[in-house]
Amino acid sequence: MPAPSAEFQGAPGPSRTPGDGAGKTFVIETFGCAMNVHDSEKVSGTLVARGYRQVLSTEEADLILYNTCSIREKAAEKVFSYLGALKKATRNAPKIIGVLGCVAQQEGEAIFERAPQVSLVCGSASYTRLPELLDEMERGNRRVTGLDLDTDECFETELTRRDNPFRAYLTIIEGCDQRCAFCVVPTTRGPERSRASNLILDECRRLVGEGYREIQLLGQIVNAWEDPAPARLTFAELLGRLADVPGVRRVRFSTSHPRYFTPDIVEAIDSHPALCEQVHLPVQSGSTTVLARMLRGYTREQYLEKIDCIRRARRAISISTDIIVGFCGETPEDFEQTLSLLDAVEFDQVFAFKYSPRPKTAAGGMADSVPEAEKSERLATLLEHQRQIQWRRNQALAGQEFEVLVETFQPRHGQVVGRTSSNRIVNFPGTPDWIGQHMNVRVTSAGPNSLVGERIEAAGE
Ligand code: SAM
Repeated sequence: MPAPSAEFQGAPGPSRTPGDGAGKTFVIETFGCAMNVHDSEKVSGTLVARGYRQVLSTEEADLILYNTCSIREKAAEKVFSYLGALKKATRNAPKIIGVLGCVAQQEGEAIFERAPQVSLVCGSASYTRLPELLDEMERGNRRVTGLDLDTDECFETELTRRDNPFRAYLTIIEGCDQRCAFCVVPTTRGPERSRASNLILDECRRLVGEGYREIQLLGQIVNAWEDPAPARLTFAELLGRLADVPGVRRVRFSTSHPRYFTPDIVEAIDSHPALCEQVHLPVQSGSTTVLARMLRGYTREQYLEKIDCIRRARRAISISTDIIVGFCGETPEDFEQTLSLLDAVEFDQVFAFKYSPRPKTAAGGMADSVPEAEKSERLATLLEHQRQIQWRRNQALAGQEFEVLVETFQPRHGQVVGRTSSNRIVNFPGTPDWIGQHMNVRVTSAGPNSLVGERIEAAGE
């Protein structure tokens, strides 16, 4: 099992491309989704291979990178407040500062006007050009940009510095072509680009060789993946092949879009124990009228058919979702439909957000008609409604046994914390040396967001 290291200095030998980073230090702060976290891991690997050393604070760093998120306005603004604070803190200690990711792509060169201390602005579709952009910066250019969206390439690199010692992220598709009315992703991450199945399987085997046992497949719409390789595997077939890689203990995937969620994915989960019994299937709204306005491409009834298919599986697959409240024109009746969908599905977890208008989206041109206070009230109502559902569902698990991968130790409580295949968090008495082990645990009690249990026996490696 690879150990987490704050100062990872090595990099895979053959593809090491030394640059002028020797002796310099960098820090990277990541905002937003798992894809951003994984992008940062690849950017870090690229820098380490050039001779940079990763540090944990901006004070120690020569190069400061912000990998940003612009999915909602608050997230996008956060980076500018960080840049403002940094300006004061680094007045007497000049640093090179870069803005990466979705805000970089969205704001482009305007970032140089708003934050003149920034030297690099680079969107995720240009990360393949990173070595070249770093060359320019190392030569002293103080206005370096990578903003081209017109790409059919994925960020292929073996120079990844993974942060989580147990779970390795593995990108299978980049970008997004869906154009949901509310979503900024197609304009910040570029067009969909699927990676070839042979490259994905090779990376999975390599990760297992490095000691990872849990692989999390990533994509904005992970199940829109289409194999560009001659094998022409379907997404479900790819899942099966990955689950069959010797040494793989768990495979997760996110995020699935209901439009591409087909019964063969459920069949694959049923027939491969290594595929986690978990599906994240964002619904966004329970009202067909709102879904049509969001350009989601399915109705409430069609979504419920997908849920029926998952519930009919032989394994008890947990289901989580994303919901937006207060989208343009959402009436109290539409919102009631979302609450009734929560009752109909009984999700295991819900991530809910207040609608935030975004530039260059279809909804950006619609009236943001639900007042902020009403959005907040609907969000609070929805979260409380779901809390009761989760509590009830979790309590029904008392007495059941699960295999748990132990991830952390909490010294204050003398407890370890881990996850089940269904992605439920379980706390149980244990010791730090259990971290990284799979253990069988019986659930003794439950709250709305986690379970409490007791170890029965080691599940073995
Ligand atoms: N690509 C995935 C999909 O379409 O299902 C998820 C992308 S996004 C990182 C995660 C969630 O953020 C979305 O599922 C949606 O619920 C929420 N979101 C996206 N745009 C939003 C907006 N403009 N306002 C509020 N929430 C938003």
